[in-house]
Amino acid sequence: MKTKKIQNLIIGSNNPGKVREIRQLLPKYINADSIINYKLKSPKETGKTFLQNSYLKSKYFSKKTSMICLADDSGLEIDILNKKPGIFSARWGGKKSNFNLAIKRVFRELNKVDKNWKKKKINARFVCALSICGPKIKSIHSIGKVEGTISNKKIGKNGFGYDPIFIPSGKKSTFGQMKYKSKIKIDHRAKAFHKIKKFL
Ligand code: IMP
Repeated sequence: MKTKKIQNLIIGSNNPGKVREIRQLLPKYINADSIINYKLKSPKETGKTFLQNSYLKSKYFSKKTSMICLADDSGLEIDILNKKPGIFSARWGGKKSNFNLAIKRVFRELNKVDKNWKKKKINARFVCALSICGPKIKSIHSIGKVEGTISNKKIGKNGFGYDPIFIPSGKKSTFGQMKYKSKIKIDHRAKAFHKIKKFL
């Protein structure tokens, strides 16, 4: 039988929506705790890219726990907003990561650049960078993206974050309307995971 390389790891995120998704994507033989149970605060995201931020979170939590840590940094890029909110996606929700506020801000910013945006195709994508760091292992990194458009209103109660305003290419419904199991087959996190599966 093939020896698996990673048996235990810690998920470096305090966002329950993300932790839930990451758990679903990991192979079943991996025992994955999350830093939520360690009551550790997330480090300042000082990176300029998704990858720099996933790397810094993974290194930080791995040092704090002495465990292998898988961290992600993800967000929504909207082309006519010069790829904003991008790495600031969580921060657009304010201190309490209020996604209603974040979505309102997206609509406000879109109104500022084009009053008629609701009648147009607003191209966007979700991006996910994954990093795995830990004692005695070589760091692993990957990036996954899912292309789509911004819905002109919030639709659907599933998922988290910007899910109710993102329509993936080729679909008619938002991530917020899609069943959780369908979303995680096609989303940015699944794509990033697919690339690192062979190392797990
Ligand atoms: P961070 O990676 O912790 O900095 O946060 C990323 C932010 O991007 C989240 O808080 C959400 O606002 C947003 N985001 C990332 N992935 C998703 C997703 O799959 N659905 C909806 N929003 C997401």
